[in-house]
Order: sequence, then C-alpha cells, then structure tokens
Amino acid sequence: MVEKKALSVSNVKHTYDNNDFILKGVDLTVKEGEIVSLLGPSGSGKTTLLRLIAGLEKLRFGSINIKGTEVANVGNFIPTHKRNVGLVVQEKVLFPHITVLKNVIFGIKANKNEKITRGMEILKLFKIDQYANNYPSKLSSGEQQRVAIARAIAPNPRILLMDEPFGNLDETLRIELRLETKKIIKENNITSIIVTHDIEDAKTISDKIIKIENGKIIEEMIN
Ligand code: ADP
Ligand code: MG
Repeated sequence: MVEKKALSVSNVKHTYDNNDFILKGVDLTVKEGEIVSLLGPSGSGKTTLLRLIAGLEKLRFGSINIKGTEVANVGNFIPTHKRNVGLVVQEKVLFPHITVLKNVIFGIKANKNEKITRGMEILKLFKIDQYANNYPSKLSSGEQQRVAIARAIAPNPRILLMDEPFGNLDETLRIELRLETKKIIKENNITSIIVTHDIEDAKTISDKIIKIENGKIIEEMIN
C-alpha cells in the first residue's frame, strides 16, 4: 500500500522581527492517520510552527501542503477557515454564553439534526454528554479541555493540531485524557500533531516523535 502524505512542511523559516529567525528551516511530513508529537523546550518554536500550519500566522519562507493542497507558500495563503484543520490552542476558547453542545457543533457543516447527533456522539466519546446543556463555566478545567478537544474533532478535520492540550491538568487527569484522546483519534483515523514539552505526553500518544530545539528539528523517532 502506498502511504499517503497528510501534511508536508518544506523549508519553513519564520521571523517576527525581521532579525532573529525563530524557525530556521523546518522540514517534516506526517502520514495519513499518523499521530505525531512535536516535542521541545519552551521557546523552541513549537507554537509558531503550529500557527503557521493552521494559517494563524502568515508564512514567509517555505511551503506547507495539507492533503495535496498547497495551503501556504510565498505569495499564496489559504486562510485558516478554509484549511479544514481542527485546532486546540492554549488559550481558553470555549464560548461562555452558549452551551457545551452548541460549542461542540459550532464548526460542523450539516443540518441542525445532523449537527446535534454528531455533537452528542462526540460528547459521549469524551464522557461529557451529561453536560450538553450546561454552560462551560459549570465544568471543571479538565472537563472544559475535553470540550475543547471534542469541538476540534467534531467537524472531521483533515488534520488535528493541538498545542499543549493536556498542559493545565493535574497528573491523574492528564494521564486519563491523553489515553482517551489517543483512542478517539486513532479509532477515527484523524491525522494529528500534538505540540508538547512533556516527554510522557509524547511517548503515550504518538506514533512518531519529532524533537525541535532552537527552531530546528534535531531528531525524529518512531515511538
Ligand atoms: P514554544 O511554543 O516552543 O514555546 P514559540 O513558538 O511560542 O515557542 O516561541 C518561539 C520564540 O518566538 C520565542 O522566543 C518567543 O518569544 C518568540 N515569539 C513567539 N510569538 C511571538 C510574537 N507574536 N512576536 C514576537 N516574538 C514571538
Ligand atoms: Mg508554545
């Protein structure tokens, strides 16, 4: 079987101030259905790279291809909402004034009944369906993080991008949620990149670990 590429990043460089390069020529590929961790210390450029892949930052050097579509290169920029990526960022992003279910179905393109069915299904997978009609503030931070991940997965994105998704959880919750997340993304064959500074996150969840340091990929390991 020929393995298909879901993502390829070629010679990506980035500078915020036109002086120091934060990314210094990054090349990576992710296969269809693969879970890859991008592991590196704080300040190594992980978030910057994820934001470039997502289209939250404008690419200035190199190119990014998602499932055969060139989404960014010099002079070409497909905006985030047209890239069909699922995003879990570090900032709190749930809408506080709508219910958990409405948060989760927000990005799904379908009729209302289909959205609700899909929304409830994904909430069940993450064991938060009992909160469907609650507002996010009623949930603990661990439960809110489940909602954030469920919301990113709900529209069946071409690729799921998560930035330190287990970062603010205590140890027990962290272990539980990373195992559950892995199970769900594997069962649904969702190509995923998980940014983390935590080696245990990387070891637990990924098929491949890509180590980044100081804006350069220094090692790739099959896990
Ligand atoms: P990581 O996610 O690995 O901690 P980041 O990509 O957030 O790394 O940051 C890499 C470097 O880029 C850091 O030195 C950081 O200070 C700098 N940086 C990140 N975002 C910005 C920005 N919006 N403007 C200027 N510098 C930034
Ligand atoms: Mg970061």
